[in-house]
Amino acid sequence: VKAILADLEAGTGSPKVTKIAGSIDLRTREEESINIQPIQAAGRLTTEARKALISYGDGYSTCDACRKPFRLDKISRPGIAEFHADLAKFVNMDQARVVPGARRGFQAVAGTLVNKGDSVVVSALAHYTEFLAVENAGGVVKEVPLDDKNIVTGEATAQKIEEVKRETGKLSVLVMIDHFDYQFANEHEISEIGKVAHQYDIPFLYNGAYTVGVRPVDGKKIGADFVVGSGHKSMASVAPSGVLAMTDEWVPKALRTTAMVGDLTKRKFGIKEVEMLGCTLMGGTLLSMMASFPAVKERVLHWDEQVKRSNYFIDRLLKIEGSRVLSEYPRKHTLTKVDTTGSFDTVAQTHKRRGFYFSDELSSRGIVGEFAGATRTWKLNTYGLSEKQIRYLAEAFTGIAEKYGIPVAP
Ligand SMILES: *Cc1c(COP(=O)(O)O)cnc(C)c1O
Repeated sequence: VKAILADLEAGTGSPKVTKIAGSIDLRTREEESINIQPIQAAGRLTTEARKALISYGDGYSTCDACRKPFRLDKISRPGIAEFHADLAKFVNMDQARVVPGARRGFQAVAGTLVNKGDSVVVSALAHYTEFLAVENAGGVVKEVPLDDKNIVTGEATAQKIEEVKRETGKLSVLVMIDHFDYQFANEHEISEIGKVAHQYDIPFLYNGAYTVGVRPVDGKKIGADFVVGSGHKSMASVAPSGVLAMTDEWVPKALRTTAMVGDLTKRKFGIKEVEMLGCTLMGGTLLSMMASFPAVKERVLHWDEQVKRSNYFIDRLLKIEGSRVLSEYPRKHTLTKVDTTGSFDTVAQTHKRRGFYFSDELSSRGIVGEFAGATRTWKLNTYGLSEKQIRYLAEAFTGIAEKYGIPVAP
């Protein structure tokens, strides 16, 4: 610590402490740069979460005061039980569990509802982890096609449910749809889809990997049976972390407790929940979620500012001739897919560094996180950038365009 302080005080910009355990590089990109990496932006830790991580990094550190009946969500010191109740309330559902990533939430629900050969309706923009959760349970995915604006509608979902029923003679056992997808971050007709699922009496899983923790989510209003969120993607938490929330109706099934008895020893394990494999996040992951939670609850109230900044940046990008936005526009999210084939890629064609010239130019301006070498279609996420940083980012893009003679509209 003394060496780090000395480095900072000397202000040389070349710290002496550069390695952990002699071989692992320090990771300083959030401290040193503006990071527009699509999946990292809303997962970056708060200072409080960093403290929690250091303090609770030890294995099973949550278990100091674990008392009968021995389950993570019952622990009251630190306030893990209370956090579970708060989490459920945060997404307006009845019960919540912490899980190692959104994917483990999908897995728990699929493990509960999907039997061999069952079909699950997902979006044509579904995340790969939704495919794998269904596959792991022995089911098959059936994708709802997109409309001409790359949106999943309630009507298309109803048609898909009908089609599956016609073809397989059975209803799907689950509808699992992303509110904002990972490819375009377009907003899909989530309430309408919830309504359709209920008309067919099919449980509905709301995938909030890109919403829970950045904007308000009201599970009951949406008509969700399950709400899944990602701690490391959108809740300023250590990976792997996430949340699975549900209505009381599903607790006996999705949170069923073990009934297994050892044939020799006759041992039983009480109230351990089968889909959770007993306990889930037993240390720094959970405590980072808890430490960031007050800030997360506050920040969702200011989502509109983040969206406004996202639109400000995209508007400025669109002034660079030949640039396009592939996501819906105006933006309703901070994650955006852009197409710079007609602008920055024209330079890459003849540049000796090819597409990497663009990464070089960005990094020399202190901007990181774009897909290195990509100058055609790529994604960026402006979540968490201040007003000043978003202007700086826009200026940087404009500056690179001007440097290479790409016309920029005033
Ligand atoms: C990132 C993402 C996931 C996976 O989240 P994890 O918490 O890493 O498991 C699932 N669905 C969507 C739409 C995502 O963007």
